Amino acid sequence: DAPPTGKVSTRFDLEKETELRFEVEAGEAAEQVELELLTGMAEVFGSELNRNKKYTFGPGSKIAVFTWQGCSVNLYGKPEVAYVSKDTPMLLYLNTHAALEQMRKQAERDNERGPRVMVVGPTDVGKSTVCRLLLSYAVRVGRRPTLVELDVGQSGVSVPGTVSALCIERPADVEEGFSVQAPLVYHFGSTTPGTNIKLYNKLTSRLAEVFSQRCEVNRKASVGGCIINTCGWVKGSGYQALVHCASAFEVDVVLVLDHERLYNELKRDLPHFVRVVLLPKSGGVVERSKECRRDARDEKIREYFYGFRGVSFYPFSFEVRFSDVRIYKIGAPSIPDSCLPLGMSQDDTQLKMVPVTPGRDLTYHVLSVSSAEDGEEGARKDIVESPVCGFIVVTNVDTQTQVMKVLSPSPRPLPRHTLLIMDIRFMDMK
Ligand code: ADP
Repeated sequence: DAPPTGKVSTRFDLEKETELRFEVEAGEAAEQVELELLTGMAEVFGSELNRNKKYTFGPGSKIAVFTWQGCSVNLYGKPEVAYVSKDTPMLLYLNTHAALEQMRKQAERDNERGPRVMVVGPTDVGKSTVCRLLLSYAVRVGRRPTLVELDVGQSGVSVPGTVSALCIERPADVEEGFSVQAPLVYHFGSTTPGTNIKLYNKLTSRLAEVFSQRCEVNRKASVGGCIINTCGWVKGSGYQALVHCASAFEVDVVLVLDHERLYNELKRDLPHFVRVVLLPKSGGVVERSKECRRDARDEKIREYFYGFRGVSFYPFSFEVRFSDVRIYKIGAPSIPDSCLPLGMSQDDTQLKMVPVTPGRDLTYHVLSVSSAEDGEEGARKDIVESPVCGFIVVTNVDTQTQVMKVLSPSPRPLPRHTLLIMDIRFMDMK
């Protein structure tokens, strides 16, 4: 089989329990890199590779090909870096999976619920990767775990600025990650929990509630348990949000990646029956710059509208009259305590639905389309805790004609008319 498009090919022979790490250059013009397993067996973040199949990785990808038994692979193209490492924490991660699997077996036997696991640590320690690994391993042994995504900056499930839950039914695709069908998504509105910690905690509780309800009616989901991915903000309110999450989900296990102080704090503050485990991060995890993270967020939104590689979507562009929609921002700017009306607390302002008057500054903002029924005032309270049914981007605002132009994944009309504004903007360069 000839190398694709005449790219240079480099062969790597890996001994057992080692991994090949490579990075694809970032940027639009960067060349993709292809990976092919020639002999033996190998996996990428918990998903097995098929032999003689070429997997393509786009700009900015950071990949590890791990082998338990030994293998040889080819890379086609010029990765920014590529090296083999013998020093990986994969055995510890596999043991973690084995321990969780024991808990699931026990849950099955005793008619109880399976492990609820929270993965915590600062940014860029491989939290998402560990979640993906544990979920793929679980599904490979026939479980149906749930991924709970609380990282509002870098969501693996939906666009940034959201929290979500997804039932995992098959291992992650080597190139594309988990197949995202029918996730449950809630609007948060910004890329850091700090902008509205009260709302963040509220949504965490809501997801926990919905997950628990599902576990009551679905035995497989209950036994499968959940893996919760969290934000990298581990101090102050960020830390409190982790403690809140642990209690809302009644987690059984907390995996702390590479942060001894956080590990000690959680051991001190969580109930004694919660198993808090300190795990090393992989030396392969690459620190990402601010720009890199912003690009990844942009890419996630672009994918939402235009699809991913093989699958192209064709979004629609149409006009929406101001009078046909109601736009809200969740959370009023905080005012001094002394100015609050009697009986009202700062907390109430953080969950308040503040009507937004459409103006030019709405342009490029991402808006969530709430699934809440288009009721009047009375329904406002439910909006915060209603899932989102999709997203649109405002591409133009005409205050003269009172009309805005939007980019939407589905044709007009909008399925619902309650829109929630995000801090996040998306400029469509296509
Ligand atoms: P976090 O969720 O803690 O921010 P991620 O799991 O997203 O971190 O990992 C950061 C980056 O490092 C990702 O691009 C991921 O693909 C990459 N990565 C993770 N583990 C490895 C590894 N062993 N070798 C190479 N790259 C890795």
